[in-house]
Amino acid sequence: MLEKVKVSAVKSVDYNLENLIPAVKKAILQSGGLPKHLNTLSRVLLKPNLLTAKSPSDSPTVTHPEFIRAVILVLKEQGVCNITVGDSPAGVHKWEDLWEKTGIADVARTENVNLIPFENFKFIYLDNLKIPVLKELDDFDVVISLPKLKTHLLTKTTGSVKNSYGLIIGHAKAHFHTLFPSPIKMSKFIGRLYAAHLKFDFAIMDAVECMQGDGPNAGYFYHAGVIFASSDSVALDSSASEVFGYLGEKIPLLKSAEKYGGGICELSQIERCGDGWDVVTSLNGKKSKAEILFKFPDRLFFIVSLITRTRPKVEHANCTLCSICEKACAQKAIYLKNRKINVKSSKCILCMCCIEACPKQTIKLRTSRFWTS
Ligand code: SF4
Ligand code: SF4
Repeated sequence: MLEKVKVSAVKSVDYNLENLIPAVKKAILQSGGLPKHLNTLSRVLLKPNLLTAKSPSDSPTVTHPEFIRAVILVLKEQGVCNITVGDSPAGVHKWEDLWEKTGIADVARTENVNLIPFENFKFIYLDNLKIPVLKELDDFDVVISLPKLKTHLLTKTTGSVKNSYGLIIGHAKAHFHTLFPSPIKMSKFIGRLYAAHLKFDFAIMDAVECMQGDGPNAGYFYHAGVIFASSDSVALDSSASEVFGYLGEKIPLLKSAEKYGGGICELSQIERCGDGWDVVTSLNGKKSKAEILFKFPDRLFFIVSLITRTRPKVEHANCTLCSICEKACAQKAIYLKNRKINVKSSKCILCMCCIEACPKQTIKLRTSRFWTS
């Protein structure tokens, strides 16, 4: 009989290091331990989710800096000191602004770890696609994913597998939405890409404060109070999705990653370890509008989205006219007119990049009453 994949869930009520450090240690241990090839000489890349330049106290958009600090301290305790932290956000942000606002600059300063801007790239290939990913990936012996558990308008939930998409450099992330312009197509692409090229060595997930509603950026706080860990990111995401009432094997992104060898998402093949599962099974976070989008027939996705007037809408009162959304839109569907940001419906493919990139959470997905009631 095949050995099951271990996923641990351990309780941590808040981001106090006194709770976090023992919880991270326990989660790692109970999931079977850190990768065997990690040693004191290893060069380690920690890949949190730093989606946009936003403080974790305002919104649960980014991996919490104290969570990242706890992982660094646990690694250092094991003698692993060559640690680098980095991510590539959605949209165009100044690196210093991203690092300061997300709190990661303070962590890097005080814990003496490196910060890397994801700017240099090398190409990887999937079929006939050239995909620019972080060039320095080759310089690391171990890459550990530190995702934030959130709902997602396109992929239902986002965790470690989706976190790998941040290894793609800058604006290229938006470009692939043009080639795969529906939630199903994009989910299959990301799952396949993860399995083929971007598998993490290990993942520790921040699900202390999660995002419910229209994640990954326009949702709101949901306290789960759990940390997940696993050497299999697909199994980890599949298990953690239960926080929002999902069966992981019904999530196309994870199913695609599993199909192409990225990991296991069938719950029957996952062994649950740790003391946090009673909490996980009692949770019921609010899902995103992906529930509506996945009901649109895939081949007619654009037409149905247009007919139902399902489009991003800007709440002008809080808009600072920073233009980050405009730069994030590969379709050039966003424009400034009379000092207001507007969306041209006929050009929009509903990639959600503008919603993900807006640092003020002022772009929301709206749909007609026909679909919502
Ligand atoms: S909606 Fe306004 S605040 Fe948000 S990214 Fe666009 S310009 Fe900036
Ligand atoms: S306006 Fe439409 S196409 Fe442009 S980024 Fe937003 S969702 Fe994507």
